Amino acid sequence: MTVSSSSLPESSRKESSDWLLFLTLLPYARRNSRILIFALCLLFPLAIASAVQPILVGQAISILRQEPTRFEFLKALSLQEGLNAVAWMLLATVAVRLCLQGVQGYLVQKVGQRITADIRQDLFRHVVSLAMGFFDRTPVGRLITRLTSDVDALGEVFSTGAVGIVSDIFSIGLLIAIMFYRQWQLALLLILLLLPVTSLIIFFQYKFRKANYRAREKLSDLNSALQENLVGVNIVQLFGREGLNSRQFRKTNYKYVQAVDETIFYDSAVSAVLEWISLVAIAGVLWFGGVMILNDALTFGILAEFILFAQRLFNPLREFAEKFTAIQAGFTAIERISGILGEPIAIQDPGGDRYKKALENAEPTKRGEIRFENVSLAYKDDELILRDLNFTIPPGQKVAFVGPTGAGKSSIIRLLCRLYEVSSGRILIDGVDIRDMPQSELRRHLGVILQDGFIFAGDVNSNISLGETYTQEDIQSAAERTNVDQFIRLMGNGYNTELRERGSNLSAGQKQLLAFARVAIRNPKVLIMDEATANLDVGTESLIQDAVEDLMVGRTAIVIAHRLSTIRNVDRILVLNRGRLVEDGNHDSLLAQEGIYASLYRLQMLGNQSEQV
Ligand code: ADP
Repeated sequence: MTVSSSSLPESSRKESSDWLLFLTLLPYARRNSRILIFALCLLFPLAIASAVQPILVGQAISILRQEPTRFEFLKALSLQEGLNAVAWMLLATVAVRLCLQGVQGYLVQKVGQRITADIRQDLFRHVVSLAMGFFDRTPVGRLITRLTSDVDALGEVFSTGAVGIVSDIFSIGLLIAIMFYRQWQLALLLILLLLPVTSLIIFFQYKFRKANYRAREKLSDLNSALQENLVGVNIVQLFGREGLNSRQFRKTNYKYVQAVDETIFYDSAVSAVLEWISLVAIAGVLWFGGVMILNDALTFGILAEFILFAQRLFNPLREFAEKFTAIQAGFTAIERISGILGEPIAIQDPGGDRYKKALENAEPTKRGEIRFENVSLAYKDDELILRDLNFTIPPGQKVAFVGPTGAGKSSIIRLLCRLYEVSSGRILIDGVDIRDMPQSELRRHLGVILQDGFIFAGDVNSNISLGETYTQEDIQSAAERTNVDQFIRLMGNGYNTELRERGSNLSAGQKQLLAFARVAIRNPKVLIMDEATANLDVGTESLIQDAVEDLMVGRTAIVIAHRLSTIRNVDRILVLNRGRLVEDGNHDSLLAQEGIYASLYRLQMLGNQSEQV
């Protein structure tokens, strides 16, 4: 596979419509559609209860001032009865709001949390399925920002009740309709004020969104820097880079603060505009309504209604502005999350019955034959790391790859395990192209032991079984065969001892032996070891050598070793140089060839002798 230069769209984002982005959420919302629809339905009685309250207050004032009313039922009542009726109705609207608001808020938040959890889950699954090439070009800190704070920002949209924006829009519409019904001149006055304010808010909203995107980018940078420094803290200290790295971090930190400041500016601007405009609106209604009352064109009741309408009209807008911060952050988050979810899974399992067909064409008797046919690899478009490799390793053969650093030895293993895809050519295991095999099947055939045995947080048992179901006897016998049982027994809780993340309570050798046990229990056809015996003390190395010899029996084995003394017993040595296969034979025949292997071997022998002197 070739790695394109495009990374997560961190700086060059595509402009997509905000509302289209929300479509990304649709499949998630659909899973909770019943609760969501119920919660949204509750918004309507809420908005209606809120919109009729000014009318009821206005009517109460009209009754007191004995002004004419347009409501038939009030005309039929005495003053006291009318006042009582209006007061009861007002109480009823308050009760509706009191009851429904809590229920509605609770339901929306509940659905919101479920949706965010589902998205986080999907993101995790997607990220761990992406090909290695993606991780080569994406800093881990950046991914963690997306998996944590971006998903949280989306959750905020729900927890701040920002979904109620639907009800705000509905409330504004309803209020406008009622206002025009009650008194069109005053209604028009308020609308004329509403329009410029709305456009100003939309402008600030646009600016806020851009600023928020920048702030998120800077947060990603900040997290990448943190992650890099924390993971590599030993190197930072060994090379005395604390001061320098702190200075670099200060810059990154400062840029983040600057970006956040910008978002705060636009957020405050919206609030200030709304505060100011709502007062202007009330003053306008008072002045214009006052003039109409003086001319007997308006009643006090209607004026009171419109003072309340002015407040009520800008209230949803003010709330909109408050929710808008969360919503904008939510848009940004969705955009960034879809960036990852849209990242194609480059290495996929074959579809349909391709594997079945490939198996039919393969020779069933082989158990562990590996064949490379014209295999080339370029990590970057123009740079071939492996060139036209052709070789066949028959079942059961023990092969070592040898060559100078950077020759491409580890790359061969990565291709064989399909962590990367070949740029051209094909790799066959027992006659089946590995691209025709489900990845789980491929991994079942291969047992890989890398230089640094990775340990997951969990106990010894789970570090050997890695989530698959094996009996305690299986686990123990695998550990015995690979000489790690004796160490496990010495630990406080034996096989139930908790291992720390990255295995810091184990020595390098013990970690390696545990990695051997992991492979032993799976009983793969092919054993692959990349520098598996490097950096070990002599005692552990002999235990490991024992384990290796035991594991190799009856399997095809591929070994990469820097120290040539450790591979003298292999059947065959393949020598690589600059991505090409240059020599192929056993130890003696290669020495006789006087080629690269012979000179590497002599150099190492010379080194060993001078160490012994
Ligand atoms: P070896 O195991 O023989 O030391 P590798 O297979 O690790 O060599 O690397 C071969 C070459 O490929 C090196 O020049 C290395 O810089 C390059 N390389 C290895 N991994 C990557 C990667 N993920 N992206 C780009 N180049 C890589």
